[in-house]
Amino acid sequence: MEPTQPNPLVCPHCQQIDQVSKVTAVVSGGVSAGVYAAPMRRGGYAALPGASQTAQSMRLAAPKEPVFRPSINVWVIVIASIVFVILSLSFANWSIDIVLITLVCALIVWLIWLSRRDKRRRALFLTHHPQWEQAMAKWNALYYCGRCDGVFLPDGASGFVPIDQMGAFLYS
Ligand SMILES: [Zn+2]
Repeated sequence: MEPTQPNPLVCPHCQQIDQVSKVTAVVSGGVSAGVYAAPMRRGGYAALPGASQTAQSMRLAAPKEPVFRPSINVWVIVIASIVFVILSLSFANWSIDIVLITLVCALIVWLIWLSRRDKRRRALFLTHHPQWEQAMAKWNALYYCGRCDGVFLPDGASGFVPIDQMGAFLYS
Protein backbone atom coordinates (compact mmCIF):
# COMPACT_ATOMS: atom_id res chain seq x y z
CA MET A 1 0.00 0.00 0.00
CA GLU A 2 3.07 2.27 0.33
CA PRO A 3 3.57 4.71 -2.52
CA THR A 4 6.31 3.48 -4.83
CA GLN A 5 8.19 6.72 -5.34
CA PRO A 6 11.66 6.05 -3.97
CA ASN A 7 13.21 9.49 -4.20
CA PRO A 8 11.05 11.61 -1.89
CA LEU A 9 10.89 8.79 0.68
CA VAL A 10 14.64 8.44 1.12
CA CYS A 11 15.58 9.37 4.70
CA PRO A 12 17.30 12.78 4.63
CA HIS A 13 19.59 11.62 7.47
CA CYS A 14 20.99 8.26 6.29
CA GLN A 15 19.98 8.53 2.60
CA GLN A 16 18.45 5.05 2.81
CA ILE A 17 14.89 3.86 2.32
CA ASP A 18 14.91 0.34 3.81
CA GLN A 19 13.89 1.43 7.36
CA VAL A 20 11.43 4.10 6.25
CA SER A 21 7.73 3.69 6.96
CA LYS A 22 4.74 5.95 7.08
CA VAL A 23 4.09 7.26 10.58
CA THR A 24 0.34 6.59 10.29
CA ALA A 25 1.17 2.99 9.37
CA VAL A 26 3.52 2.57 12.35
CA VAL A 27 0.91 3.98 14.72
CA SER A 28 -2.04 2.08 13.24
CA GLY A 29 -0.15 -1.18 13.52
CA GLY A 30 1.01 -1.51 9.93
CA VAL A 31 4.58 -2.09 11.07
CA SER A 32 4.64 -2.69 14.79
CA ALA A 33 2.47 -5.60 15.86
CA GLY A 34 0.29 -5.16 18.89
CA VAL A 35 -0.39 -1.48 18.50
CA TYR A 36 -3.92 -0.39 19.13
CA ALA A 37 -4.91 2.83 17.44
CA ALA A 38 -8.25 4.59 17.49
CA PRO A 39 -9.38 6.35 14.33
CA MET A 40 -10.08 9.98 15.05
CA ARG A 41 -13.12 11.93 13.91
CA ARG A 42 -11.11 14.28 11.73
CA GLY A 43 -8.88 11.59 10.28
CA GLY A 44 -5.65 10.09 11.45
CA TYR A 45 -5.09 7.83 14.39
CA ALA A 46 -4.55 8.39 18.06
CA ALA A 47 -2.47 5.65 19.56
CA LEU A 48 -4.10 4.37 22.70
CA PRO A 49 -1.87 3.49 25.60
CA GLY A 50 -1.84 -0.20 26.35
CA ALA A 51 0.42 -2.96 27.54
CA SER A 52 0.94 -4.22 24.01
CA GLN A 53 1.76 -0.86 22.54
CA THR A 54 5.34 -0.28 21.56
CA ALA A 55 7.13 2.74 22.94
CA GLN A 56 7.90 3.73 19.36
CA SER A 57 4.30 4.03 18.28
CA MET A 58 3.45 6.02 21.41
CA ARG A 59 6.21 8.50 20.66
CA LEU A 60 4.91 8.77 17.09
CA ALA A 61 1.29 9.20 18.13
CA ALA A 62 -0.83 11.93 16.58
CA PRO A 63 -1.00 15.32 18.30
CA LYS A 64 -3.86 15.43 20.77
CA GLU A 65 -6.95 17.28 19.61
CA PRO A 66 -7.87 20.30 21.73
CA VAL A 67 -11.40 20.04 23.10
CA PHE A 68 -13.84 22.60 24.48
CA ARG A 69 -16.34 21.45 27.07
CA PRO A 70 -18.53 24.32 28.22
CA SER A 71 -18.94 24.66 32.00
CA ILE A 72 -22.45 25.97 31.48
CA ASN A 73 -24.15 22.74 30.49
CA VAL A 74 -27.51 21.12 31.10
CA TRP A 75 -26.65 20.26 34.74
CA VAL A 76 -25.72 23.84 35.60
CA ILE A 77 -28.99 25.05 34.07
CA VAL A 78 -30.99 22.40 35.97
CA ILE A 79 -29.32 23.25 39.30
CA ALA A 80 -29.76 27.01 38.73
CA SER A 81 -33.43 26.51 37.79
CA ILE A 82 -34.14 24.42 40.89
CA VAL A 83 -32.46 27.00 43.15
CA PHE A 84 -34.35 29.82 41.45
CA VAL A 85 -37.69 28.01 41.90
CA ILE A 86 -36.99 27.36 45.59
CA LEU A 87 -35.93 30.97 46.14
CA SER A 88 -38.95 32.32 44.23
CA LEU A 89 -41.29 30.31 46.45
CA SER A 90 -39.52 31.71 49.49
CA PHE A 91 -39.85 35.26 48.17
CA ALA A 92 -43.55 34.65 47.55
CA ASN A 93 -43.91 33.87 51.24
CA TRP A 94 -42.34 37.24 52.10
CA SER A 95 -39.57 35.49 53.93
CA ILE A 96 -36.83 37.54 52.34
CA ASP A 97 -33.82 37.52 54.55
CA ILE A 98 -30.09 37.97 54.32
CA VAL A 99 -29.50 34.24 53.66
CA LEU A 100 -31.77 34.24 50.59
CA ILE A 101 -30.24 37.41 49.21
CA THR A 102 -26.78 35.97 49.72
CA LEU A 103 -27.82 32.77 47.92
CA VAL A 104 -29.19 34.69 44.95
CA CYS A 105 -26.05 36.82 44.73
CA ALA A 106 -23.84 33.74 45.02
CA LEU A 107 -25.78 32.01 42.25
CA ILE A 108 -25.51 35.02 39.94
CA VAL A 109 -21.79 35.42 40.65
CA TRP A 110 -21.26 31.72 40.04
CA LEU A 111 -23.07 31.84 36.67
CA ILE A 112 -21.15 34.96 35.59
CA TRP A 113 -17.87 33.32 36.62
CA LEU A 114 -18.73 30.14 34.66
CA SER A 115 -19.72 32.05 31.54
CA ARG A 116 -16.54 34.16 31.61
CA ARG A 117 -14.45 31.00 32.03
CA ASP A 118 -16.30 29.43 29.08
CA LYS A 119 -15.59 32.52 27.00
CA ARG A 120 -11.87 32.34 27.80
CA ARG A 121 -11.67 28.61 27.11
CA ARG A 122 -13.62 28.95 23.89
CA ALA A 123 -11.27 31.68 22.64
CA LEU A 124 -8.30 29.46 23.51
CA PHE A 125 -9.91 26.53 21.72
CA LEU A 126 -10.63 28.63 18.61
CA THR A 127 -6.95 29.58 18.51
CA HIS A 128 -5.58 26.12 19.19
CA HIS A 129 -7.85 24.01 17.00
CA PRO A 130 -6.69 25.35 13.61
CA GLN A 131 -3.08 24.94 14.80
CA TRP A 132 -3.87 21.33 15.68
CA GLU A 133 -5.50 20.78 12.25
CA GLN A 134 -2.31 21.98 10.57
CA ALA A 135 -0.23 19.77 12.85
CA MET A 136 -2.47 16.80 11.98
CA ALA A 137 -2.11 17.45 8.25
CA LYS A 138 1.67 17.45 8.71
CA TRP A 139 1.56 14.34 10.90
CA ASN A 140 -0.54 12.47 8.30
CA ALA A 141 2.21 13.09 5.74
CA LEU A 142 5.15 12.15 8.01
CA TYR A 143 7.59 9.29 7.41
CA TYR A 144 9.67 7.57 10.06
CA CYS A 145 13.19 6.16 9.66
CA GLY A 146 13.84 3.31 12.07
CA ARG A 147 17.61 3.54 11.63
CA CYS A 148 17.82 7.23 12.53
CA ASP A 149 14.83 7.28 14.91
CA GLY A 150 13.39 10.40 13.38
CA VAL A 151 10.76 11.68 11.02
CA PHE A 152 10.65 13.71 7.83
CA LEU A 153 8.23 15.03 5.25
CA PRO A 154 8.66 13.77 1.69
CA ASP A 155 8.77 17.38 0.45
CA GLY A 156 12.58 17.36 0.46
CA ALA A 157 12.65 20.77 2.18
CA SER A 158 11.79 20.25 5.84
CA GLY A 159 14.77 18.02 6.59
CA PHE A 160 15.23 15.36 9.22
CA VAL A 161 13.59 15.74 12.65
CA PRO A 162 14.68 13.61 15.63
CA ILE A 163 11.66 11.90 17.14
CA ASP A 164 11.95 13.87 20.40
CA GLN A 165 11.43 17.09 18.45
CA MET A 166 8.46 15.82 16.44
CA GLY A 167 5.88 17.67 18.56
CA ALA A 168 7.62 21.02 18.13
CA PHE A 169 8.11 20.36 14.42
CA LEU A 170 4.41 19.59 13.89
CA TYR A 171 3.40 22.86 15.53
CA SER A 172 6.12 24.93 13.83
ZN1 LIG B 1 17.54 7.29 8.24
